[in-house]
Amino acid sequence: MSATTSRDIGAPTVTAYAPGRVNLIGEHTDYNLGYALPIALDLGTTVTFRPADDHGPMISASSDSESGTATIDLGTRPGEVSGWGAYIAGCVWALRGADYEVPAGRMEITSTVPVGSGLSSSAALECAVLLALTAESTLSGHELARIAQRAENDYVGAPTGLLDQLASLFGRADTAMLIDFRSLEVTQVPVDESATILVIDSNSPHRHAAGEYAARRASCEAAAAALGVASLRDVDEDAWRRLPDGTQRRRARHILTENARVLAASVALNDGDVTALGELMDASHVSMRDDFEITTPTIDLIAETARLVGAYGARMTGGGFGGSVIALCASDSADRITVELPDIVSAGGHPTPTVRVVRPGPGAHLL
Ligand code: ADP
Ligand code: MG
Repeated sequence: MSATTSRDIGAPTVTAYAPGRVNLIGEHTDYNLGYALPIALDLGTTVTFRPADDHGPMISASSDSESGTATIDLGTRPGEVSGWGAYIAGCVWALRGADYEVPAGRMEITSTVPVGSGLSSSAALECAVLLALTAESTLSGHELARIAQRAENDYVGAPTGLLDQLASLFGRADTAMLIDFRSLEVTQVPVDESATILVIDSNSPHRHAAGEYAARRASCEAAAAALGVASLRDVDEDAWRRLPDGTQRRRARHILTENARVLAASVALNDGDVTALGELMDASHVSMRDDFEITTPTIDLIAETARLVGAYGARMTGGGFGGSVIALCASDSADRITVELPDIVSAGGHPTPTVRVVRPGPGAHLL
């Protein structure tokens, strides 16, 4: 990484935007060095940063999504700032750890990404903050993604992969991204207008998500070790059969079959074959439900209802244990799902879901 100097205090105000993301398919594959196919959303977070040193070597930040002001010393270390300010402190700390001199100043944050719904408001925040703080640098998208990940993993303490940050930084309108997590190569795949993408927020809180995420990650690592490889990317699709432990077999089978589904889905998307894409999404949901065991009864009901009401396919999206379902449908079924699904799900005793139509939007950029 190239060492870069900070802007002078008194330098102009900078405004940066970064979107949330939704994953079409490929769940828990990122840390297994496999594949995923996300889109950047047309919902995002905007950070306005005004360099100023009148309040010392600090960044102070306010957000329309959270209360209070976060105050971050430029020399901050993990553990010093908690709550939502930790995401900004993490960016400051990770930038300085990469030899980047961070300017003092004031930050105002506005966002249209729902927080905590699995649409990666956290990566949208990190990427917008990093872009605003490094406006005049030549840091690449991959460098920014790694810095954002370090902020989230090592400062905030959330052990996430790189998917969210790469999607936020590399997104483009009307385009999905096939990401190879071994090479970190991002291949753009066009998304035509024929299919409507719905994101259905379960409005049910993530339960035990952090502990379960760590447990899944550990199972995958143990499965790779039992197979004598560094990661599950290094074995063929049927390798799970060689594992003696039943749970490990199912965990590995999800990852290995999911990688194959992502590759098939990127071909189907490129061909505009919404029927094939929908079937792959359904199969992915079954694999997450039965093999990886990361869905919940509410999420299963939402996915099943979306299918029954006419979606080409539907699956949970995001790390699991709550969050959102993504459904692919024709525009008339999208209308029916939007009207009928919330009532059907709440009649089953679940929180009333929120249905949103989304399109692939632009990636992070300066405004
Ligand atoms: P998700 O990324 O799925 O929305 P996370 O739990 O990973 O959920 O991240 C949500 C957290 O990120 C919030 O609780 C908050 O601390 C922080 N956050 C995200 N967006 C904002 C924002 N616009 N302003 C302040 N904090 C935010
Ligand atoms: Mg997040």
